[in-house]
Amino acid sequence: MSDARRLIQPRRRDENLGPHLAELPDELPAQTEAEVQLAAVGLWKRYHKGRVDIPVLRGVDLEVRRGEFVSIIGQSGSGKSTLLHLLGMLDVPDEGEIAFRGQRIDNLPMRKRDALRNHEFGMIFQFYHLLPELTALENVLSPLLIAESVLGYVRHRKQHVARATELLEMVGLGHRIKHRPGELSGGEMQRAAIARALASEPEVLLADEPTGNLDSSTGEEILRILRTLNGEHNLTIVMVTHDLAIAAQADRRLRLAGGQMELA
Ligand code: ADP
Ligand code: MG
Repeated sequence: MSDARRLIQPRRRDENLGPHLAELPDELPAQTEAEVQLAAVGLWKRYHKGRVDIPVLRGVDLEVRRGEFVSIIGQSGSGKSTLLHLLGMLDVPDEGEIAFRGQRIDNLPMRKRDALRNHEFGMIFQFYHLLPELTALENVLSPLLIAESVLGYVRHRKQHVARATELLEMVGLGHRIKHRPGELSGGEMQRAAIARALASEPEVLLADEPTGNLDSSTGEEILRILRTLNGEHNLTIVMVTHDLAIAAQADRRLRLAGGQMELA
């Protein structure tokens, strides 16, 4: 097994669990490929502007199988980020349900949602959202610090640093680990953000316009990394974008329009 592969192998459920995850609803059985990993049924989301109700999602259905790379294309304002936030449990739907590996997750108490997100979901964004005061290495370490108690983090710090360094090497940033975001190019910042998203060994990567702020050749490099993570490491990826050429590189393409999901 290559180092890179070991890095993002899903953990067995009984090892290395953070202090919170043991409290998740039930034991999750090992999941085979082609099983539905992430599902949304009838998602509605409205925002309120003054007294006006603006429905953004109007009954969105989605099924993502383990190891799939799905792209969702949609115009600006079509609700792509809203949908990803719901899938990543950063927000809750007004109606509908979301299930991860067959278990409903949208109605979990906040603490359990946080724990599940921290352990099973990685997220990357158009503007990277790196912490500007931290080096690339420290940015990649940050989710591990959040997931563990301070004491646990200190105890495992050596392993964490080794792992974060390997992840940065895997995305081609081994020579930039001490650089702060302000000293990195856009493509390098997105690579660092990808390494950070992988730090907790997630099963699913949610990518919100990951190439939206990059020139096309740099965007291609980011896509190449995502395809490698998906193809060689079986990471499930849901990517939203308004860019047809980028969306076309996924295995399956969907379109969000009029608040509903269509085939693209
Ligand atoms: P996309 O990511 O496809 O560009 P978004 O999901 O960000 O679209 O937004 C969809 C629509 O919802 C837009 O019209 C946006 O203005 C509106 N919207 C998003 N977030 C909020 C919010 N927190 N409050 C009010 N309106 C919002
Ligand atoms: Mg958006």
